[in-house]
Amino acid sequence: MYQTMMLIDGEQVKSLSGRTAVIRNPANQEPVGQVFLGGREEARAALEAAERAFPAWAATSPAARGKILHRAADLVRERQEDLARLLTLEQGKPLKESRREIQASADVLDYYAEEGRRIFGELVPSASAGSRSLVIRQPVGVAALITPWNFPVDLMSWKLAPALAAGCTVVAKPPSLAPLAATAFVQTAHDAGAPPGVVNVVHGPGGQVGAELVENPISKKIAFTGESSTGRWIMEHAARHLKRLSLELGGHAPFIVCKDAHLDRAVEACLRRAFNNMGQICISVNRVYVAEEVAEEFTNRLVEQTQRLKVGDGLDPGVDLGPMFSQQQREKTREHIADALEKGARLLCGGREPEGKEYEKGFFFLPTVLDHVDHSMLVMQEETFGPVAPIMTFQTVDQALELANDSPYGLAAYIFTSDLSTAFLAAERLEAGGVGVNVNNVAEIQAPFGGWKQSGFGRELSHYGLEQYLEIKHIRLGI
Ligand code: NAD
Repeated sequence: MYQTMMLIDGEQVKSLSGRTAVIRNPANQEPVGQVFLGGREEARAALEAAERAFPAWAATSPAARGKILHRAADLVRERQEDLARLLTLEQGKPLKESRREIQASADVLDYYAEEGRRIFGELVPSASAGSRSLVIRQPVGVAALITPWNFPVDLMSWKLAPALAAGCTVVAKPPSLAPLAATAFVQTAHDAGAPPGVVNVVHGPGGQVGAELVENPISKKIAFTGESSTGRWIMEHAARHLKRLSLELGGHAPFIVCKDAHLDRAVEACLRRAFNNMGQICISVNRVYVAEEVAEEFTNRLVEQTQRLKVGDGLDPGVDLGPMFSQQQREKTREHIADALEKGARLLCGGREPEGKEYEKGFFFLPTVLDHVDHSMLVMQEETFGPVAPIMTFQTVDQALELANDSPYGLAAYIFTSDLSTAFLAAERLEAGGVGVNVNNVAEIQAPFGGWKQSGFGRELSHYGLEQYLEIKHIRLGI
């Protein structure tokens, strides 16, 4: 069994209480690791270590910080197989996807190693001849990094890399039920030469460890990815000290298929983005709107391809979809499907667990397609975070855009069309932080990622992601 500790002030730490938790494989509920759990006291110790380390780290050159980040990226690549296996064992996703997640996280470290060199200032014109004005950017201070279980490594890299590149010291809090690979990932920054206290990791319940990171005045910035309700709690409590915040919260992405869409591509894109990681992605396709003229063909093809997806243990190389992360996620998915069927939806495939001995102990579920859905149903209102593609038809693009925007969320939206004007005008009107036109992914390392409306605020990735860890200072010089 893999054992994971906390990292505080450069030391591996068990926990004051000696409390541990067993991490189980969602494919068969076998134990895969043991994690030492801290509480408020360990979180405080980590924050204090980060505070002590901050002045020296902030004073290092961006090039020196970049070297450490590059070295960490190399270590992640060297350890890729172990990290990917660990990720599949604790989270369930197929091994090929875990490998992609680890590679992408190493790339983010490399990207910010270089982006940190471009923390430019400005020399701005002064109103008086006797003075000069300079604008510089400086690290905000100790940053708390709090992440969820669906992409535990990737989403940690989106925070760790820009924070360190900016000159912040960090306390990372990986998700309680999938902390193994994320902790091993953060450890690479320590192994790459980050001085003691610069990177710290604490484990434990969000309501204690996470809450201390938010409420303690030492942290100056909270970078959070998770549920909108947790984000709201964090915002309220961080307000007491007016902390800097970036909140990447839930999503409910619409996927519009126009009558002139390239159907092969639209079906393939919808299939992948609705079901990959068992729909447990904040930018998963949650609502499918298809033009009446092509609805039957689109639906038939989607159902046919969905039925071909192989569900199984993520370690099996032939598997397309692993188990869901937890029983709770599977129950929520079932409830959403039952609610839709009760209100008149039609079940076209899936809607239940797969049959067979190999599925008995895991949280498996078949990818599900529904049609005849409407906005009174939970699947069209709330984030299912499960493998469900509900299809609704539309007559005009205007109508589709209205339906797409009829949601409190605004993280990602997708449209498939071969008309340039439709694509452009629709992309402008969709209320989301990222719009995919003829693609099913809006995450791109050089471009900003984040939400509108109740999907949060602040941006990750790109130079915008680095800005989140920097304060602006005006220096006025009398000449
Ligand atoms: P969650 O909000 O339950 O937990 C996220 C993290 O916050 C965990 O580490 C948890 O321990 C911690 N936490 C819980 N209570 C806390 C508190 N009071 N103070 C501080 N920290 C606390 O979310 P989850 O179930 O792990 O993740 C799923 C959610 O994440 C979904 O809603 C999904 O859409 C969202 N998500 C959003 C994005 C994005 O970029 N917008 C990306 C991935 C996932």
